[in-house]
Amino acid sequence: MPFSFLEDWLSKTQKGFNLLVSPRSFRPFSYFRSVQKVLKIAIVLLLVVAPLNLYCWGFFGHKSINRLAVFTLPTEIMAFYKQHLEYISEHAVDADMRRYALKEEAPRHYIDIDHYGEQPFDDVPKQWFDAVDKYTEDTLQAYGIVPWHVERMYKRLVDAFKKRDIPYILKTSADLGHYIADAHVPLHTTENYNGQMTNQHGIHGFWESRLPELYSEDYDFFVGRAKYVSDPLAAIWHAVEVSNNAVDSVLDFERQLNESFPSDRKYAFEERGRSTIKAYSRDYSAEYHLMLDHMVERRMRASIITIGSFWFSAWVDAGKPDLSKPLSEEDERILEEERKQLEADYQARSVKSREHDE
Ligand SMILES: [Zn+2]
Repeated sequence: MPFSFLEDWLSKTQKGFNLLVSPRSFRPFSYFRSVQKVLKIAIVLLLVVAPLNLYCWGFFGHKSINRLAVFTLPTEIMAFYKQHLEYISEHAVDADMRRYALKEEAPRHYIDIDHYGEQPFDDVPKQWFDAVDKYTEDTLQAYGIVPWHVERMYKRLVDAFKKRDIPYILKTSADLGHYIADAHVPLHTTENYNGQMTNQHGIHGFWESRLPELYSEDYDFFVGRAKYVSDPLAAIWHAVEVSNNAVDSVLDFERQLNESFPSDRKYAFEERGRSTIKAYSRDYSAEYHLMLDHMVERRMRASIITIGSFWFSAWVDAGKPDLSKPLSEEDERILEEERKQLEADYQARSVKSREHDE
């Protein structure tokens, strides 16, 4: 499922490139073939690099959100999370990496709530089993399960705290942060998740990756202290509803801008490490960002405080266990094994998908 402008652009560019180099294509200048060679190298590099940054808030966004959530915690639990700040931040994107290895993973990151009619927040049962009874599990999985998966991960985190199982607490906290952040992205709550139904391909990555990368250093991330959440399922449904209420603005503003903005200035080429990528231009991004009037900032802020509040509440629900014991060698071995396994799965899958593309 294409979730970013980069992915769309790559597939289009690859197709365009294949046309250019096909024997039927017209190639009057020999130097053009060298340009093609350079392009081909660039595209191959892009295909290698691209899968790292395809989904959700982008790697940068997710890592920042999880990191900032640690600083919302009450002091009694903040010390534990601060001690593991690097883990919580670095592993904020594991859930996205798992998409390449596990077919069940993708629906955990979104819910196409508008699939369920005009009044979906009235019609879709909040509780998982009621929703399964009404629609079947296959249907729920087909259109995404993020609110229910957040609830599941929350229960798992309570369990991890009860067991005082530090690797399990860290892994579950990082993943829970990821799914909560995804639920705060408007385009994670609609069938038109990448503007594919309104000729706005690429808007998904534009909103959730490009804009935070360009502007988040100016955002105000002082979001206050995490609070106890007595009903996590209701809280995450509320987040999904607020996200969904913003979908029209996300799409309409970009459509308006696209109509008024000079089309030859909409995209620009930018250096990314050793690669050159095509991205929404800075001028186009600046205009869109202005029209959104702090929306991306508001959704990031809401993600951060909700994540902190969920972590804190899980710890309270588990009876506020003492977590002052340091990581044992065995804990470190478990975490290292999991990291290696995830990396191996990810590498195996991304290589396979590239071969498939070719
Ligand atoms: Zn995600």
